[in-house]
Amino acid sequence: MIRVIVVGAAGRMGRRLVTHIAESQDMKLAGATERPESEFIGVDAGSVAGVQSLGVKISPDFSSLLDQADAVIDFSTGAVVQNAGLAAAKGLSIVIGTTALTADDKAELKRLSDNGAKIVQASNFSVGVNLLLYLTKLTSKMLSDDFDVEIIEAHHNKKKDAPSGTAVSLAEAVAKVKGWDYEKDVKHGRQGLVGARTKHEIGMHAIRGGDIVGDHTVLFAADGERVELTHKASSRDTFARGALVAVRFLASAKPGLYDMQDVLGLK
Ligand code: NAD
Repeated sequence: MIRVIVVGAAGRMGRRLVTHIAESQDMKLAGATERPESEFIGVDAGSVAGVQSLGVKISPDFSSLLDQADAVIDFSTGAVVQNAGLAAAKGLSIVIGTTALTADDKAELKRLSDNGAKIVQASNFSVGVNLLLYLTKLTSKMLSDDFDVEIIEAHHNKKKDAPSGTAVSLAEAVAKVKGWDYEKDVKHGRQGLVGARTKHEIGMHAIRGGDIVGDHTVLFAADGERVELTHKASSRDTFARGALVAVRFLASAKPGLYDMQDVLGLK
């Protein structure tokens, strides 16, 4: 049995993660945390997730749970990198799904993995989205610069960050193939008299509305034809399932900083 802590257990993703762990044959919920002021502190994580009581009360104290666990899954909007440092010091495997990590955050995760931590960090844990990423790299390589690349993502109206972490990963992949720079060459939305589109840019567009779980399209448009690669998630379960696959992957992996392309063998 792999004993897993879920950070942010009362969040939208946290609840799905708790549910999938409760339903799995090879994992057990060993701990669950929330921010100290959460109304769910002291409440059973299984009840919060809408499954049976699991005998694990949601705690505000991450450190106190580490000795009774093998792995941590963090999709919280809290102190993700700080938690990773604490978990790494105790030798736990770490799976991080939180998006909007800064370059400094990612550098710190790399430093932890260089010092022996086992980490999977990915902006999207769905198998389908990772196939989309793979196909986007392939299509970028095969189509010439005559094809303009635009990325369109859509999410629910409660999402705080834009563009989505997945859209950023898709744009980074295109930029890498073309030898371009994400920061300089991505154009976020367009408004007013911006002039004709140049060949040396990737358009990025974020739609927010209703309960959309997550849609991503990479559009390659040339004169006379276009190719559109689209993935649509209709449930958060796909991300939770992927996070559990990542925990199993780390159980036998060497120390390192991995992404879902590594986990799924798409590299
Ligand atoms: P949410 O707001 O519903 O959940 C976040 C939870 O984290 C909340 O319950 C919040 O109270 C908790 N939290 C905040 N600070 C904390 C702390 N210090 N300790 C413990 N818990 C704390 O958000 P969500 O929709 O579940 O998304 C969470 C994150 O996961 C976002 O960054 C989102 O973009 C990302 N996400 C990633 C994937 C993926 O596949 N990588 C998929 C879906 C969502």
